[in-house]
Amino acid sequence: MSEKISEKYLTFGESKKYLSEEHVKLLIDTFDKVYEGICETFNNGELRPVEYIIDPEYDGVAYTTWRKVVLNPKWLEEHPWDIDCMTHELIHVAQNYKDVECPFWICEGLADYGRAKFGLYNKEGKWELPKYSDKQKYTDGYRVAAAFFLWIEENIDPTLPKDLNDTIKAGKYTDDYFKNKTGYTVDELWQKYAEANKANA
Ligand SMILES: [Zn+2]
Repeated sequence: MSEKISEKYLTFGESKKYLSEEHVKLLIDTFDKVYEGICETFNNGELRPVEYIIDPEYDGVAYTTWRKVVLNPKWLEEHPWDIDCMTHELIHVAQNYKDVECPFWICEGLADYGRAKFGLYNKEGKWELPKYSDKQKYTDGYRVAAAFFLWIEENIDPTLPKDLNDTIKAGKYTDDYFKNKTGYTVDELWQKYAEANKANA
């Protein structure tokens, strides 16, 4: 494909002036490299247009509403290799859990699961999944749940993360999901995860 997908699917206007040229380039290049794979996993391959807005007034890291991803430029100044914080946000765009129920921990856990899989600079950004500890619970969401999903994928059912996303999008997620899909409740799966990883904790 000669045309870059960012040309068609990424709007990155005026507000990019708040970032260094290097960061603008890196963000666009990362978008070109990760977004198709993300949409393959999280949106049945359909590419949703995205808009990046750099907002110096925002004091969090980044957030997504609908197709807009807002980023605090100071965050990247202070964490220059945390490029894949935007990869996490792109997964939220692709998830597009609009008008459907999704427990918080699943939404954020899948976004970090996707960041772990698709992110290009996690190592440079010193971002990694935590090892299991007994202080964790899957309901912590984010990286804790991401490590749990990866373990399920590798040890119990390789189709689960994608299927879970598809099920949520279809508005069909219930508390019985994990039992129906794997034969174990989510708490039983967590127990197995804990047992399998206790040794290296
Ligand atoms: Zn998130």
